[in-house]
Amino acid sequence: MEERRIVILGGGGVGKSAMTIRFLQNFFVTEYDPTIEENYRKQILVDNKPVFLDVLDTAGQEDYTSLREQYMETGQGFIIVYSITEKGSFEEVPEIYKTVLRVKDAETFPTVICGNKGDLECRREVTFMEGSNLAKTYGVPFYETSAKTLKNLEMAFHQIIREIRKVELPK
Ligand code: GDP
Ligand code: MG
Repeated sequence: MEERRIVILGGGGVGKSAMTIRFLQNFFVTEYDPTIEENYRKQILVDNKPVFLDVLDTAGQEDYTSLREQYMETGQGFIIVYSITEKGSFEEVPEIYKTVLRVKDAETFPTVICGNKGDLECRREVTFMEGSNLAKTYGVPFYETSAKTLKNLEMAFHQIIREIRKVELPK
């Protein structure tokens, strides 16, 4: 069976764990230990084709050191998450994506950018257009998501599988 390894990247507190657990285990966590780095596995259907997902929810807010780059080597696709309520987390996205490209020694790589906490409109610091424009410069899909309301969550996980399939099964 098709098996895909997805790595969730992004600053601390943006909702990486909440998104992963909500999508793979279907509940919303509000106080999840920010230092836990964990693999989650689940079989899902994407475009009517079964795929075994292996998702690494990364943790730690330190710089992307060589140790942290090890899991980038094994990832077949990346979801880079920022929070729409925290400008600083958005500003980290370019460095994270550039690190992925450097580790992969590639000019592009299957990636989806998510502006999470999309339900917290009252606390928004990053506009939809800012997120969308950044993703456009990289040529990668962009969604505003919410681990709380489920907004675009399935979409983001399905799309990263499609991005991987696109490069691995060229038409
Ligand atoms: P991580 O450090 O990136 O793994 O962040 P967490 O998943 O631990 O989330 C940090 C905090 O933000 C927790 O209190 C979550 O409940 C909250 N959170 C995560 N995603 C969302 C979201 O989409 N909406 C709202 N309202 N809160 C969220
Ligand atoms: Mg976490």
